[in-house]
Amino acid sequence: MFGVDVRLHLTFFLLPMFIFWTDYNAHHNANGTRDLALAGIILACVGAHEWGHMLAARRFGLIPKAVILLPLTGVTLYDEPRAEKAQPATLFWKREIRLALVGPLVNLALAGFTIAAITASARGTELWKWPFLQAANLPRSLVWANLYLAILNLIPAYPLDGGRILRAVFSRTLELSAATRRAVSISTAIAMVLIFAGPFSDIWLTMVGVIVFFAAQLEERALVFQSVLDNVRLEEVMLTDFATLSPADTLEDALEKAVHSLQDDFPVVRGSDMVGVISRQRILDTLRAEGNGYVQAVMNKIFEVSVRQESLSSAFRKLTTRNSNIIPVVEDQRLVGIVTLQNLMHSMALLAESRKLQRDEAES
Ligand SMILES: [Zn+2]
Repeated sequence: MFGVDVRLHLTFFLLPMFIFWTDYNAHHNANGTRDLALAGIILACVGAHEWGHMLAARRFGLIPKAVILLPLTGVTLYDEPRAEKAQPATLFWKREIRLALVGPLVNLALAGFTIAAITASARGTELWKWPFLQAANLPRSLVWANLYLAILNLIPAYPLDGGRILRAVFSRTLELSAATRRAVSISTAIAMVLIFAGPFSDIWLTMVGVIVFFAAQLEERALVFQSVLDNVRLEEVMLTDFATLSPADTLEDALEKAVHSLQDDFPVVRGSDMVGVISRQRILDTLRAEGNGYVQAVMNKIFEVSVRQESLSSAFRKLTTRNSNIIPVVEDQRLVGIVTLQNLMHSMALLAESRKLQRDEAES
């Protein structure tokens, strides 16, 4: 939507079941369609909330790339999160607090509009009747879903908006990653309290705790990945033992070589010069459609090259803008390694895990 990749977190699929279950326990005559509509209302309110954050973020020069919606909050991934490093710390925390407040304000405004609309239509919707959030009364639920979202998001549990404000305050004296870690550990503690308090008070608290827990995990993982992307150089992950093809190879020879390799993509090399790239799929497709021919005629001659010292994020950008799967790494015009999408995904997960282990060791 509007150039932003919108995804639903798995917990969003638990929500309709959860609503149905609480509805059924309360009345023994749960209405599935209405329960689904209530889940839809909550989704729309969370969407509006996140949309507010993203519009505000755009004004600060951050480009939203993807958003993962959970039933209470969203985790937004921005294209240039590094821009915040370049900014002075004083600006960063002020901006974060402003960005965080936009979401709850959007929900308060929506609740206000809905109350006004309900009052104007004079349909006699009892706004103050318990339970506030109930599938049997959708207009009232729309008001309360917004009010709940505004209030709950101010809980100081990162990555809820209240937690973001807390992190912004920590970041005045701590480095951003340390501030985030402190905010995440407070958040996990709050989530645990909510999860265990739920059965003794209101089961919705358990749901909130579970969502906070998942959201914090998502956010932390995104941060670890970002730091891997920025700090790891291509020479640390590139494949140095790889198969190459020659432009003079026939496609059948090429396929034969491809069978003996784990690679999906191959650099095409003449002497010590890199002249093209070709994928296993391309070889197969051409063989099927046109029969045998030469690699020379089918290979992709336009490709990006990188150097050893480039960061993974720069490699990812090159791969995605060219829509290709392989980047040759060259040194003095000589091919010294290759980085493939497959290989990047693989090493990213491993590196993220090893960073986490190192960090945990350093902390204990
Ligand atoms: Zn928010």
